[in-house]
Amino acid sequence: YGGGMGMIMQANPIYECYNSLLENDEHIHLIYMSPKGKTLTQKRAEELSKLDRFVILCGHYEGVDQRVIDEIVDEQISIGDYVLTGGELPALVLADTVSRMVKGVLPEDICFEEESHFSGLLEHPQYTKPYEWHGKTVPEVLMSGHHKNISEWKRIQSLIVFQIFQIYLIFPLTYKQLILQDQSTLILLSF
Ligand code: SAM
Repeated sequence: YGGGMGMIMQANPIYECYNSLLENDEHIHLIYMSPKGKTLTQKRAEELSKLDRFVILCGHYEGVDQRVIDEIVDEQISIGDYVLTGGELPALVLADTVSRMVKGVLPEDICFEEESHFSGLLEHPQYTKPYEWHGKTVPEVLMSGHHKNISEWKRIQSLIVFQIFQIYLIFPLTYKQLILQDQSTLILLSF
């Protein structure tokens, strides 16, 4: 109704589908993937990973009849400020982000706790073999086997990466220059 370019998904098939899932549950948390929703964060994904179950509704075409959204949807989640053709990829993004924080999916909780966004910081740079590549070597501290120094280095690097990211948000054009030339200044700024 009201014109517009694309088709709208009808309320009733979605409602019936949702009801068929309710047979053994009084309520299932229903998430509608939508560019109008709250942007997905690591924190929200962690909260969702504690639920026993939730259901994801993916829109397509122009979207979904608002009445069924109003009636059955508990929350709307966006994966970013852009529009995709359908909610399938956003649903996979959500499912992947949440499921890797469910106990037992990764070998240890530390696998995701040390990563970007979990603590509010961004992860330190990472290196693997070979020791030298294109004339660039792995930072010496990582070769030292000194656990305390390595963990301090990781923390400082996280702060630097975070600081660079903040500056990048304000001055995007200087990002590359900052990484190459200003690391020592940023260390001073971080403390
Ligand atoms: N007409 C809608 C609008 O302007 O807000 C966009 C509809 S979009 C073409 C079709 C479907 O893709 C949406 O119903 C939603 O399920 C999904 N979708 C598109 N972009 C998304 C995003 N950034 N985050 C989550 N879901 C998205």
